[in-house]
Amino acid sequence: MTAGVRLIIMGRQGAGKGTQCQRISRHYVVPHISTGDILRAAVREGTELGKMAGQVIKAGRLVGDDIMIEIIRERLEQDDARTRGYILDGFPRTVAQAIALDAIAAERPIHVVLDLDVPRELVIQRISARRVCRDCGTNYVATTQKRDPWICDSCGGDVIHRNDDTPESISQRLDLYESQTSPLLDFYGRDGRLVEIDGSVSPNEVFGTLTAAIDHARKNG
Ligand code: AMP
Repeated sequence: MTAGVRLIIMGRQGAGKGTQCQRISRHYVVPHISTGDILRAAVREGTELGKMAGQVIKAGRLVGDDIMIEIIRERLEQDDARTRGYILDGFPRTVAQAIALDAIAAERPIHVVLDLDVPRELVIQRISARRVCRDCGTNYVATTQKRDPWICDSCGGDVIHRNDDTPESISQRLDLYESQTSPLLDFYGRDGRLVEIDGSVSPNEVFGTLTAAIDHARKNG
């Protein structure tokens, strides 16, 4: 079995992908590549990409396929991804992105696509209470004891309420997920790469099921 793992994690916003990706990344020593984090970093840096992406994210729409495919092509060429593999989070979001990814990853194909399944009502509750570190992306749950923003335990950055975590934006992003991203489940389901994971149980149970599915896929991949 080769070192590292190449996987895609899917699931509605708020399904727990961020938390599970951090754990998987440490466990298998692979980079966690989140296109949402890449775009938010560009927004903070005020680059041309960031200026455009900031407006698109705020409006709850998707950044264009060509731009996203180029971002991923460059990122997957970096040494860490080439040698260790990667966890892709937030990419692909459309079938066009998935087709492009298969071409980019042709030499070192994806081991498995994991779908973290959590019902819509539950993710709306979770996202409304979600707070996230602006610097390292660690997720927190809002409490009445803490006022926004507070300091991240992991890196000392600001923990904030993301400005796209409003009820209107959440609802629009979930609708987008259903219409544009759900076809990906059919795409990956057809060739047997998709594994459904129940994301509504405890984080430890979810992690156990995820690692079992990843280990199984690596053994056979
Ligand atoms: P996320 O943190 O994954 O929820 O991403 C936040 C926002 O970034 C999304 O609502 C989109 O506007 C944009 N975005 C992230 N990944 C992609 C992608 N693969 N394709 C298009 N837009 C994306």
